[in-house]
Amino acid sequence: MFDLMESKRALTEEVKRFVQEMVVEKVKEIEETDEFPWHMAEHFFKRGYLTLLIPKEHGGFGGSIMDFCTIVEEIAKYSASLALLVIVQTVGTLPILLYGTDKQKDAFLGDIARNHRLIGFALTEPKAGSDAGSIQMTAKNHGRHHILNGKKSFVTNGGVSYYYTTFAKTNPRRGKRGLTAFVVPADADGLTVGKKDDKIGMRGIPSTSLSFKDVAVSHNAIIGRKGEGFRIAMETLNRSRPAIAAQAVGIAEAAMEYAILFAMKRRQFGKPIAKLEGMQFILADMAASVEASRNLVYKAAYYLDHNHRNATKLSAMSKFFCSDMAMKVTIDAVQVFGGYGCLKSRPLERMMRDAKITQIYEGTNQVQRFVVAEQMIKEHLEIYDRYFRKELEEMAWE
Ligand SMILES: Cc1cc2nc3c(=O)[nH]c(=O)nc-3n(C[C@H](O)[C@H](O)[C@H](O)COP(=O)(O)OP(=O)(O)OC[C@H]3O[C@@H](n4cnc5c(N)ncnc54)[C@H](O)[C@@H]3O)c2cc1C
Repeated sequence: MFDLMESKRALTEEVKRFVQEMVVEKVKEIEETDEFPWHMAEHFFKRGYLTLLIPKEHGGFGGSIMDFCTIVEEIAKYSASLALLVIVQTVGTLPILLYGTDKQKDAFLGDIARNHRLIGFALTEPKAGSDAGSIQMTAKNHGRHHILNGKKSFVTNGGVSYYYTTFAKTNPRRGKRGLTAFVVPADADGLTVGKKDDKIGMRGIPSTSLSFKDVAVSHNAIIGRKGEGFRIAMETLNRSRPAIAAQAVGIAEAAMEYAILFAMKRRQFGKPIAKLEGMQFILADMAASVEASRNLVYKAAYYLDHNHRNATKLSAMSKFFCSDMAMKVTIDAVQVFGGYGCLKSRPLERMMRDAKITQIYEGTNQVQRFVVAEQMIKEHLEIYDRYFRKELEEMAWE
């Protein structure tokens, strides 16, 4: 594990240099204007951060989940919004990477990499969030085309994307086994973008609704087989959840750093507050939480990169553990600052608002706990059957 950390050090340093040079001065502007940072997106494309998992032969960065998390963590220390830009682009491309044909990879991923196109991921609907299998959007086969009808909500990069990876029901009678994935160009007739959501955090990176009214897409737009959409969505999110965890770790690290620097400078009772025992307990808990969380992120990334059988469990675990940690650490950092933590001129309140969102998107933390518990049950079934079933069945419960 520690060798692993060593090997990603060069990438961390490279991203850090870039972020300090290019990103730091833009953070306030992005926060205040809530305008999409096109100039930064272009820089990110040039550095490969928006083609992260796309193989080199299609013009991409050719990175791993480990690289994905490393880059996201480093950017999130300065701007969680810009880290989200990297995450959503990767989430949009993953279904094509995982299930696209060579022809589709060449057409869509090649276009994204060569022509710097943004891609969004449209799964959530007004009546289907955590229960993604219950989406209502339909795609009906009309000979040479499928016709899409329905509404999507909370689509990150809605209105600025060139493509949307979209999920619709091709067979409504089959429940979640009736879902199919499509890549829809943003300029398709009948596709309209709703008003930008006014969010509490992740400012500058828009989320919008999308309305599909008789949107015709060719069969080339179908990713994977018909009916495989739910699986494609889950496998995609499985690979991106450690990046949300990395984003949360980045936010928490930044808040912790502010807190310790402030605590060293601020004096009360004749000494820096960093020397007060009660304050030291808070600082030490922050440091231990960040360290433990970071290790969980990179273990999950390593498992995903190596197809480890526990990758799903670690991915969901990292997402809920690290985002809950970031929420706590950012709130505690405000506490360390006392009254000054409540001022909008300090970055801590931004970090607190951004941390909250990491607990919700890409599957809420309640849903992640449910995924972990289900994986635990699966893992332990064999042991249960072999050693414990008889014993438990014979047990007197009263
Ligand atoms: C900033 C932002 C960006 C987003 N970007 C995208 C995007 O790009 N693409 C996309 O498709 N979606 C996106 N989403 C949507 C996001 O994934 C959903 O908001 C999330 O999955 C939760 O769905 P919901 O909001 O409908 O809440 P609901 O599913 O209605 O949940 C409401 C509450 O009930 C709880 N709950 C639900 N089911 C259970 C259960 N089984 N057990 C216990 N508790 C449960 C939840 O944890 C939550 O606390 C985004 C959301 C936000 C806030």
